[in-house]
Amino acid sequence: MKVCVIGGGAAGMMCATMIARKGHQVTLFEKNEKLGKKIYITGKGRCNVTNAVVGNEFLQNVVSGKKFVMGAITRFNSSDTMSFFEDVGIPLKIERGNRVFPVSDKSNDIIKGLEKTMQWAGVEVCLNSAVDEIKVNGGLASGVVVNGKTFEFDRVVVATGGISYASTGSTGDGYEFAKAVGHSIIEPVPALCAIRLKTDECKKVEGLSLKNVTLTSKVGDKVVYKSDIGEMLFTAHGISGPIVLSTSSYINRLDFKELKLFIDFKPALSFDALQVRLDRDIAELKAKQVSTLLEGLLPKSLVPLFAKRLDVLLTSKANQLDREKRKKLAMLLKNYEFIPESLEDFNQAVVTAGGINLKEINPKYMKSKLVPNLYFIGEVLDIDALTGGFNLQLAFSTAVTCASDF
Ligand SMILES: Cc1cc2nc3c(=O)[nH]c(=O)nc-3n(C[C@H](O)[C@H](O)[C@H](O)COP(=O)(O)OP(=O)(O)OC[C@H]3O[C@@H](n4cnc5c(N)ncnc54)[C@H](O)[C@@H]3O)c2cc1C
Repeated sequence: MKVCVIGGGAAGMMCATMIARKGHQVTLFEKNEKLGKKIYITGKGRCNVTNAVVGNEFLQNVVSGKKFVMGAITRFNSSDTMSFFEDVGIPLKIERGNRVFPVSDKSNDIIKGLEKTMQWAGVEVCLNSAVDEIKVNGGLASGVVVNGKTFEFDRVVVATGGISYASTGSTGDGYEFAKAVGHSIIEPVPALCAIRLKTDECKKVEGLSLKNVTLTSKVGDKVVYKSDIGEMLFTAHGISGPIVLSTSSYINRLDFKELKLFIDFKPALSFDALQVRLDRDIAELKAKQVSTLLEGLLPKSLVPLFAKRLDVLLTSKANQLDREKRKKLAMLLKNYEFIPESLEDFNQAVVTAGGINLKEINPKYMKSKLVPNLYFIGEVLDIDALTGGFNLQLAFSTAVTCASDF
């Protein structure tokens, strides 16, 4: 069979290799001058290539499309990804949180590995080749148009990614291809991104990073998402860092008018235990200043913000804080409230949530239910996961699942 793969990212390269290994004639079109531009910037240049968990533990980290990807992540799991790269001579290591990286800490090695396997399998790679259109004839994909020229194929695989970090080549072309043949698109929204806040407090603590805190998002009294205990940081306009990125993936479809965010600075203590601790601290500090009390509880730069919200002078005496103020302080430490303004835009979002409607794709082979010889794999689909190597694994799992139909 003559097979066309559109997109030379993680999903496209893996899929092209696997189909070519079965003896088919595969051509991969990549619009950039080189392959894997997005892989190059993954994991801060180190490429967190997968996460060494499988099954349900893996699924817990999938935000959209859990049920849809279940078969794919079983067919080709993180152990398979690790064997794939180790077999081509790229040793891997497992770090904190089961995150897997190349021993070299170089994302380029992962790109080279994928390039090498494509070469060995005989894939024809065409760079600087943006596909403009998928030709459909009699209800079947018959070829693609590249630079005004039509190339004929028996089957077409779309692996064009989402629309985040567009400079890497992911500009949403796959959505247009899908729409042109009748597919519907779940509106793409940024995921794994920073959150802008409606406050000038951030500017005052810009650059401050917090460890061992949680972030909870709520609509009214209803908790939308409570992060694990982790790290976050303040930026000029809002908040970022691991627990903020995870939160963004769960709030990206909500009406921000009704949403509130709460930082818990003392997640290891219950509200009551914290009040006991405050009473004890205050008893020890006696007539020392409130600033000393707060500095014992918080990073120094946050102290003036707390004093303002508490409505007390930093120079006032700790033991003059009455029951009401002590309770308010405990509330602020457990539930420091922010009103979010918006998510950062796609250019700063690690992944795109939304994409090709999964109802129209057969998960057994990632095959279109509308055009039977057309496939969609990777981030172009309405799937997304948390950080930790899960998104690349989804690209690989959907790619190999697609190849199993050849
Ligand atoms: C800064 C950053 C860091 C990340 N870090 C990690 C990480 O450490 N671990 C992890 O698991 N995930 C990470 N991700 C997410 C991960 O990179 C993506 O989910 C994954 O690369 C998606 O793979 P893909 O092949 O579906 O799409 P892409 O990697 O986006 O590849 C799509 C390819 O298709 C090409 N293309 C698009 N349109 C056309 C067209 N019309 N014709 C020809 N070619 C076309 C593009 O140029 C591109 O090369 C990160 C993302 C970013 C932005």
